[in-house]
Amino acid sequence: MSTRQLTLALSKGRIFEETMPLLQAAGITVTENPETSRKLILPTNDADLRVIIVRASDVPTYVEYGAADFGVAGKDVLLEHGGEGLYQPIDLNIAKCRMSVAVPADFDYASAVRQGARLRVATKYTQIARQHFASKGVHVDLIKLYGSMELAPLVGLSDAIVDLVSTGSTLRANRLVEVERIMDISSRLVVNKAALKLKRERLQPILDAFAKASNP
Ligand code: ATP
Ligand code: MG
Repeated sequence: MSTRQLTLALSKGRIFEETMPLLQAAGITVTENPETSRKLILPTNDADLRVIIVRASDVPTYVEYGAADFGVAGKDVLLEHGGEGLYQPIDLNIAKCRMSVAVPADFDYASAVRQGARLRVATKYTQIARQHFASKGVHVDLIKLYGSMELAPLVGLSDAIVDLVSTGSTLRANRLVEVERIMDISSRLVVNKAALKLKRERLQPILDAFAKASNP
């Protein structure tokens, strides 16, 4: 492929939507809507730039292997993936939320921790959770889930969950309370390291426009 052609990896939903204004700032418009189109390769107004639609957690993999030159991924996804082989130049300040520990409203988390109880924690984010509890010296059994973490404590699968929270309404709807904020999360631009060298001329103006539009 020529050094003029660029592939950008995005996931559907909030990352796609919140990346559109940043692309706009770089003069790029995606000419098809991923929510209504079944296509996974979307054209843009720039014949040399295409967008591919992948699962949020697959973005680092496509970029690492160079199947995409650059992409947008949450800090959660990058920490779980490890970020090897990726250059992470910009925090885009989009898809903001936080990673938190939540428990059923009637579970006394503070005293369980104080008493040194071994906690069962269900999460999709096992790396972040492991690191968090290890740094606090709390013993946990991690139970890996792929979604609907809020359900786990309600049916006795776990004592607690580690999950992303934005408004807290999903937690409230399931009578869970946030007891610890692990970290703030936002999405980052990630760039393939080889592409950064070979396609710098094409990439740099886009990176500059993204940086300007996302960190005003
Ligand atoms: P999938 O739906 O493919 O299983 P996912 O749920 O992680 O993956 P999205 O829901 O599209 O994918 O979330 C993409 C990214 O947006 C996450 O990695 C995270 O960084 C961020 N995010 C997730 N939930 C929220 C939220 N409630 N508010 C703001 N940002 C969020
Ligand atoms: Mg989701």
